[in-house]
Amino acid sequence: MMVREPLFDGHGRRISDLRVSVTDRCNFRCQYCMPADGLPWLDREEILRFEEIERVVRLLAEMGVTDLRLTGGEPLVRREFPRLVAMLAAIPGIEDLSLTTNAYLLERDADALVEAGITRVNVSIDSLQRDRFFQLTRRDSLPRVLRGLEAIARHPEVRPIKVNAVALRGFTEEEALPFAEFARSTSYQVRFIEFMPLDGDRAWSRDQVLTGREIREIIDRVHPLEERPREPHATARVFRFKDGRGEIGFINPVSEPFCADCNRIRLTADGKLRTCLFSLHETDLRTPLRAGASDEELETILRNAVWRKELKHHVGERGFRQPPRSMSAIGG
Ligand code: SF4
Repeated sequence: MMVREPLFDGHGRRISDLRVSVTDRCNFRCQYCMPADGLPWLDREEILRFEEIERVVRLLAEMGVTDLRLTGGEPLVRREFPRLVAMLAAIPGIEDLSLTTNAYLLERDADALVEAGITRVNVSIDSLQRDRFFQLTRRDSLPRVLRGLEAIARHPEVRPIKVNAVALRGFTEEEALPFAEFARSTSYQVRFIEFMPLDGDRAWSRDQVLTGREIREIIDRVHPLEERPREPHATARVFRFKDGRGEIGFINPVSEPFCADCNRIRLTADGKLRTCLFSLHETDLRTPLRAGASDEELETILRNAVWRKELKHHVGERGFRQPPRSMSAIGG
């Protein structure tokens, strides 16, 4: 393995975590993410090929990136996805290879994904009640999603398995205790994520955000919680149930930003490097990749882009502008 200088941004933060969106397409239509009719999808030619993704990941691994998360849209809708996982798992330096999925296709793919090298999985589930799940995702798919979760849980080598629920005011208040019971009765780590201004409808407003603190208070009244020390670069505040029955987490990018020690960058499905979830600027990697750029030329492009990484997001501040690209085309 070629070892290159570690990758730092202009604020002295070392970058070691890469999120790769492998497709902008999704088989769900979650209200907080995508319009009912979906979005105009990228053309096949615009999407990075497996070999191109592999090359970018290999270069970043040589610059010290160790954690790789695969996202979408919904990554499991990408044809031959397990083959890509195997290619990436073979890259020296990648120590952690995880997946974010809505689990609709997980029952079908779980064995192949584990064999290919997936070590951690985050499953997006916003309600444990079938009708409310349908209401939010516009898909009557909860039973199949839960079967997918069980399928991956049958692999003890895949841990932790996290269940992420987007928190919406006027909806998630009723989900807080059912999810707390779910966290207490299973080995899954449940986390609530505050609704962020990255929706396809561009209808986000601060009053739709149900904060992590509010959900925690609902749960704490019934099941007292105590906070676990925060790990470096962590996005979630994790709490134990005082009676020892499991953990639950809160990802609060709007009310309690965690940007100070951010170590993350993102690669979009069409080959753009995003240095922050809320970046208004992107760096095109696809053009130089397809124009025959050398590894050294790509390294320079990557370093220059990362050096300009944003210190933090400005959600809720005067002058905040929602990025043109929505969450489904960025990936979590
Ligand atoms: S908002 Fe941007 S800077 Fe803040 S934690 Fe997320 S990616 Fe990092």
